[in-house]
Amino acid sequence: MNTSQAEGIDQLQSWVNESKRIVFFGGAGVSTESGIPDFRSVDGLYHQKYDYPPETILSHTFFMRNTKAFYDFYRDKMICLDAKPNITHLKLAEMEQKGKLTAVVTQNIDGLHQAAGSKTVYELHGSVHRNYCTKCHTFYDIHCITESTGIPTCECGGIIKPDVVLYEEGLNDATVTGAVKAISESDLMIIGGTSLAVYPAAGLLHYFHGNHLVLINKSATPMDADADLLLQCGLGEVFSRIEV
Ligand code: ZN
Repeated sequence: MNTSQAEGIDQLQSWVNESKRIVFFGGAGVSTESGIPDFRSVDGLYHQKYDYPPETILSHTFFMRNTKAFYDFYRDKMICLDAKPNITHLKLAEMEQKGKLTAVVTQNIDGLHQAAGSKTVYELHGSVHRNYCTKCHTFYDIHCITESTGIPTCECGGIIKPDVVLYEEGLNDATVTGAVKAISESDLMIIGGTSLAVYPAAGLLHYFHGNHLVLINKSATPMDADADLLLQCGLGEVFSRIEV
């Protein structure tokens, strides 16, 4: 760690100390440190064995037309039941417990923030832990997917679909509304592990009018110039040094 990075983390620590309504906005980089691959990164799922790119398989059209192929990929690549929360998930949960953080807004679908103990989590892209029958709307947990083969079906005969926002699908209104409210009322916003290239990340950030905007990402993002503090490193390097 170089001096400027150490100074940056000290700066973040003092802002965390004085803040009472922190919101964390996170992307794939939060979960890669738990061993969950980022399918947009070059080390991710792109160069793998499937006939279609992930964006095609994870689309509404593909789900409707090739449901079995969707589930072959989905079970193989999108569900990581062995993954455990890492230091970033744990520190954020602790901040919430101590009344400093009001919400986590995440683009991840793995449920690791809740596994770490976080209560208010706006999952913009849904969760692999929730699934529902497309016919009678009965809800199912993740085991209906992991413990079945082929196309998972409900007792009523309907096809079960993950409560995950696929390409071509819109976000859940209540989730977006909750995220916007939390962001607009926050005093410190920490953005981490996202390139901010994916809708609706950049748009949501415009609702922030608090004191300090902190951006933690290994690579450059289109919002770097808007940050009050920019840390170009892994999230674990930062959160392992932050005391709540
Ligand atoms: Zn059903």
